[in-house]
Amino acid sequence: MSNKRVYLFHEGNAKMRDLLGGKGANLAEMTNIGLPVPPGFTITTECCNYYSKHGKFPDGLMDDVKAALAAVEKDMGKRLGDPENPLLVSVRSGAKFSMPGMMDTVLNLGLNDQTAEALIRLTGNERFVWDAYRRFVMMFSDIVLSGQYPDLKKEKFEHIFDALKEKVGAKQDTDVDAAGLKDLVGQFKEYFKKVTGQDFPSDPMKQLELAIEAVFKSWNNERAVIYRNREKISHDLGTAVNVQTMVFGNMGDDSGTGVAFTRDPATGENKIYGEFLMNAQGEDVVAGVRTPETIDQLAEHNPEIYQQFVEIAKKLEQHYRDMQDIEFTIEKGRLFILQCRAGKRTPQAHIEIAVDHVNEGLITKEEAVLRVPPEVPGLMLLPALDPDFVKKNKPTVLAKGLNAGPGGAVGKVAIGSAAALRMAEAGDDVILVGRETTPDDLGGMLASRGVLTATGGKTSHAALVARQYGIPTVCGCSALRIDENSRTISADGVVLKEGDYISIDGTNGLVYIGQIPTKMPEVSGKFATFMEWADSFRTMGVRANADTPEHAAEAVELGATGIGLCRTEHMFMGDRVPMVQAMILAEDEAAREEALAKLLPLQREDFVGIFKAMKGYPVTVRLIDPPLHEFLPSLEELLVETTEMRVKGETGPAYEEKMKLLNKVKELHEFNPMLGLRGCRLSIYFPGIVRMQVAAIIGAACEVKKAGLDVHPEIMIPLVGIVTELTHIKEQLEQVAQETMKAEGIEVDYKFGTMIEIPRAALTADEIAQEAAFFSFGTNDLTQMAYGLSRDDAGKFLPLYIEKRIIPVDPTESLDVKGVGRLMQICVEDARKVNPGIKLGICGEHGGDPDSVKFCYKLGLDYVSCSPKRIPVARLAAAQAALEKDGGSTRDK
Ligand code: ADP
Ligand code: MG
Ligand code: MG
Repeated sequence: MSNKRVYLFHEGNAKMRDLLGGKGANLAEMTNIGLPVPPGFTITTECCNYYSKHGKFPDGLMDDVKAALAAVEKDMGKRLGDPENPLLVSVRSGAKFSMPGMMDTVLNLGLNDQTAEALIRLTGNERFVWDAYRRFVMMFSDIVLSGQYPDLKKEKFEHIFDALKEKVGAKQDTDVDAAGLKDLVGQFKEYFKKVTGQDFPSDPMKQLELAIEAVFKSWNNERAVIYRNREKISHDLGTAVNVQTMVFGNMGDDSGTGVAFTRDPATGENKIYGEFLMNAQGEDVVAGVRTPETIDQLAEHNPEIYQQFVEIAKKLEQHYRDMQDIEFTIEKGRLFILQCRAGKRTPQAHIEIAVDHVNEGLITKEEAVLRVPPEVPGLMLLPALDPDFVKKNKPTVLAKGLNAGPGGAVGKVAIGSAAALRMAEAGDDVILVGRETTPDDLGGMLASRGVLTATGGKTSHAALVARQYGIPTVCGCSALRIDENSRTISADGVVLKEGDYISIDGTNGLVYIGQIPTKMPEVSGKFATFMEWADSFRTMGVRANADTPEHAAEAVELGATGIGLCRTEHMFMGDRVPMVQAMILAEDEAAREEALAKLLPLQREDFVGIFKAMKGYPVTVRLIDPPLHEFLPSLEELLVETTEMRVKGETGPAYEEKMKLLNKVKELHEFNPMLGLRGCRLSIYFPGIVRMQVAAIIGAACEVKKAGLDVHPEIMIPLVGIVTELTHIKEQLEQVAQETMKAEGIEVDYKFGTMIEIPRAALTADEIAQEAAFFSFGTNDLTQMAYGLSRDDAGKFLPLYIEKRIIPVDPTESLDVKGVGRLMQICVEDARKVNPGIKLGICGEHGGDPDSVKFCYKLGLDYVSCSPKRIPVARLAAAQAALEKDGGSTRDK
């Protein structure tokens, strides 16, 4: 831990995010570029980490805090707790990566009965002081002590306030006068004493110490932990604590508080987008206490302040060279900036802003490509409500709200997070409907297809989070009434029950009754431009895992330059099952050959379709992989059927057939099929199947070539662990290939290679690479076998491992660099030594995971292969990998 634990704002800068957190670093930066930031200081993240580890402050921390506070007090000419001229401060959390609403902030700290009286004398504004005081008692109780005393939660205080408002006939907070608020402070303190048995802490220094401790603790609160897991933010970073001079937006109608983005966070449009409330404090805007006004209306209230704000917004965007999210407060006609950070935005806005910033000359194309999170292109391809359907069928509009998160979503109405979670768990597509969403709704939102709220603007914390994940969202749908008791929603007299279908369009804010079909958007306009830029920096290939001509065509459309994995299993399914079963059940070679001969032309046709769709790009075809029992009915099913037939006395030829099948299934039974007779083992056992497949592949290639098209099949032999397995099969298959070409009277370019999915194969690559023209890492099996776990069963314990932090992420989702990656690295190095021209790729599901793609780039693979929809994600991740090689990402999470 470094010696300096507390930094005054003017001692820091924007680069010190690790130590000062994002908020602290930016408060420092804004102070240094001369913006009106109330003075304060930041306690480092290292202190938080010390606290998390030892359960106490580092020795002497409060002395350092007092020294920094003294500097601020000198600056302000006020002192914390001074009975004549008191300073009030806020205590604010702020981690390296912004976690909107995930941690806690205490405002107006330093108030007690004495300092309150002093403030009344100084400001002559009694109402303001009691308003600040009641907020302080509530926030302090909630944030500092509700862990220990659940009855001190914010809601409890709000109930007391609601009762008082009712009594005095006030509609909103601002209708309550000074006397009412003074009364409220008394009631709050009494309530506090009733719950804790103690007086509300009145020593400002003690208040400060407790608040700092509460912020440290909030790093590990449940919301924050869920958010970090989801965002893959390390749990070890810790939060900084910012202690800052208070400025007051609640001093009357010449005061206010608000939040604004330098561009529209939903669409990316180059226009300031924001909301504010006059005579309000802190989170009133995002908490939906009153309906906020838009930033344009500020121009009417106070044109000078508006102009000043527009200039500051411009300055900040230019300074940070990115769209900013700015928190501001106006105190008696003076503007203060309280926070700025890179603004969260929708996938659409990410692309729009990045491309505009390049066109405006603010950033380079490289920066644009590095800035956009690699998941964004995938989210851009989320379905939208089919516009043609809407035009033609004119579905009934239930209501209209704000277009807070683009995209279309269809699902059953679920009222509140708990219902959404329950219904989603049961397998339903749901739309979460609520009055407002708060950070506590994160789980429910993530389980929903879309979100619909009655109140709340586009800047509410949870709406930001929703947009970040590409959840279609309609906010502030004011006509909507929600009745939690009868579990219904209504608008303009139309009533829907929970469980009824609605369709929401987050792009235009419309809510429809019923189900509207959705459609995948096209890659066009700025999105296409952006992807072109990404490709211009990319050096690694991106292929698709595609098994059908339709998927192949989609993959090419989305930018794939080859198929990295064409599975052939489905070619044995559907109406071909009887042929396949006849082949498996065949009693002699002749019968088997006959069954295979029937399958050959069908498979050949499949390959013709795929080769044509791929327009000359290479196609890696994997020969049959699963164990044969997968093509037969299950043992249980057959046992039931044969028993029933026996009981009914139906023991004719049909019964005999079933019994034959049953005996075969018993014969093929394996205790652990994953490690059993599959892949190349099956091919050695039953060579006829793969001989037929190669005849079909090469035959199809010849046919396509004769039709004047380019074609490059790469035939992949799965599950090799011993080089001699490969040589044994390859020899026969080479022969088939040659014979087929001879029969067709044309030569085609083909390759034989293998999948690396058994650790032994990776470790003996020096032998296997001599026999293979290409390797493709089958990281699904490689991961399973390296860990000795089965993906199908690991769902029981992997989530627990992650929760208990035994492993940081699920290795079946993101490639385990340390172990599996090590196997890959050994394999790559040894293979290239003996076969420098060997083509290397990956075709496991990891091929579409950005971190894994970046690792593959470092390994020097020639390509990654993933499902068609992930291709734009892999393209961007691969481009970023190439650019990060000599730079590194500075992207905010
Ligand atoms: P979050 O991390 O949730 O954004 P903040 O620390 O930004 O929390 O605090 C929430 C809000 O409290 C701010 O947006 C601002 O309106 C208000 N606030 C914080 N500090 C001050 C201050 N020193 N003066 C006035 N308002 C403040
Ligand atoms: Mg907060
Ligand atoms: Mg904030």
